[in-house]
Amino acid sequence: MADQTEPMRLVVVGAAGRMGKSLIRAVSEMPGVVLHAAIEREGSPFLGQDSGVVAGLMPNGIPVTADALTAFVSAQGVLDFTAPAATVEFAALAAQARLVHVIGTTGLAEPDMAKLKAAARHSIVVQSGNFSLGVNMLAALVKQAAKSLQIDWDIEIVEMHHRMKVDAPSGTALLLGEAAAQGRGVSLSNAAVKSREGHTGARAEGAIGFQALRGGSVVGDHTVIFAGNGERIELRHIAEDRGLFAQGAVKAALWGWKHGRSGYYTMSDVLGVGA
Ligand code: NAD
Repeated sequence: MADQTEPMRLVVVGAAGRMGKSLIRAVSEMPGVVLHAAIEREGSPFLGQDSGVVAGLMPNGIPVTADALTAFVSAQGVLDFTAPAATVEFAALAAQARLVHVIGTTGLAEPDMAKLKAAARHSIVVQSGNFSLGVNMLAALVKQAAKSLQIDWDIEIVEMHHRMKVDAPSGTALLLGEAAAQGRGVSLSNAAVKSREGHTGARAEGAIGFQALRGGSVVGDHTVIFAGNGERIELRHIAEDRGLFAQGAVKAALWGWKHGRSGYYTMSDVLGVGA
């Protein structure tokens, strides 16, 4: 991670995905970083194509390849918004190459998380369910509200995303649920109610409920509702463009590079907005 006088060399994995293309555009627009390689899965129809063109830009001379190993060896950071199995593999490679590994992939199970944290002994991992300043600020507000309000203020989290999203609740909804649970001093895994159907009985006191809506091209809407007796507080974030997440991810990579110490970090470390 030594020489920081040159721009940081970043690899975008999942380069032809919705976020991958947005990341390539963000890297091309932001100072202090340069695109080093663009990686896709074996068999992707985008292999061999110019990654700038794939991202809707002018050609940049960097073809999409499936050779992550070669790319990682001479890079300084990797931007990873792919899928859980791929992210776990990239984490091992990033640890070997001592890179900054920015992870936006959601839907990781507990054993996957343990592997990421093990990899973070050698790499600088920055992971977040959401890379926007607004959502991380919202999480800080949610934590504060959950801490201040009594247990009879019921907490429900409603999210909506585009029709192609594959996991639910969203990583951001879980991040907000975690903030609420921390504010209340409880464990989210004990308090979370992730679906309701049929004769569910009355709401359990202290539950943190989730509802996931899917449809159209919605980038990401999240509302945290605190429902009291006779009144309600709603805290809301609307993401209008996924470029927001891509720019946040590039900022996280630059923060990790400057920070320079291996470990597991989140966006609240990068933005300094933890409650
Ligand atoms: P997508 O399906 O459009 O893109 C994923 C890409 O990863 C695809 O092009 C796929 O081919 C590629 N991929 C899968 N396995 C791979 C492998 N082994 N090697 C290389 N490439 C591989 O999905 P998307 O909408 O771009 O979202 C990607 C992930 O990012 C999801 O988990 C989503 O929830 C998450 N996301 C996170 C944030 C955030 O701020 N944290 C924001 C948006 C999306």
